[in-house]
Amino acid sequence: MSGRDPHTPPAEVATTRRKRHGLVIVNTGEGKGKTTAALGVIFRAWGRDFRIRMFQFIKHTGATFGEHRAAMRLDIPIEALGDGFTWLSKDMDRTQALAVEQWGRCKEAILEGEEDIIVLDEFTYAMHYGWVPVDDVVDTLGQRPARMHVIITGRYAPQELIDCADLVTEMRMIKHPYREQGIRAQQGIEF
Ligand code: ATP
Ligand code: MG
Repeated sequence: MSGRDPHTPPAEVATTRRKRHGLVIVNTGEGKGKTTAALGVIFRAWGRDFRIRMFQFIKHTGATFGEHRAAMRLDIPIEALGDGFTWLSKDMDRTQALAVEQWGRCKEAILEGEEDIIVLDEFTYAMHYGWVPVDDVVDTLGQRPARMHVIITGRYAPQELIDCADLVTEMRMIKHPYREQGIRAQQGIEF
């Protein structure tokens, strides 16, 4: 243990922070890897002592997937607020209300500007289904500190979000073990 106050960045980080150009990064498309790629960036950013916060939409509040377990050990806050929505969801009003509430928290964090990197996982659906106005998101992103990176993941990224982003990647499915072989999600690979 270094004994360093976790909120006081070392000199090296303070220097890079001055040079930093905060990016809006969107991982979209129908292929696997959108959330994984965001977690990969978090891993890298953690190695740079960045202040990190990840908000998850849709995923069950209190989910304990591999990433949540790792994040606990690395002291990275992952805040999930959702009911595990699928197209079979019975209570869409609740799914929507949770997404709207979660966006409120994200907006607050973005505008407070304390973090170096904020991830909004599976957030595109809230915009796609019209629960959260894209204008509000674009406007909020425009008000964030210039050094803050924001990563948004999920399918069906709306065009207005793509237009305002700096880095957009579309994951394309070529093969998926479930589709080809009926192999279900694997621990450590998908959750
Ligand atoms: P990951 O979290 O593994 O990076 P992702 O964020 O790109 O995946 P999501 O759209 O969030 O993908 O999908 C969640 C899960 O659905 C993933 O575990 C993924 O493997 C699975 N999935 C994606 N495409 C298919 C498919 N065609 N058939 C079955 N499952 C799929
Ligand atoms: Mg995902």
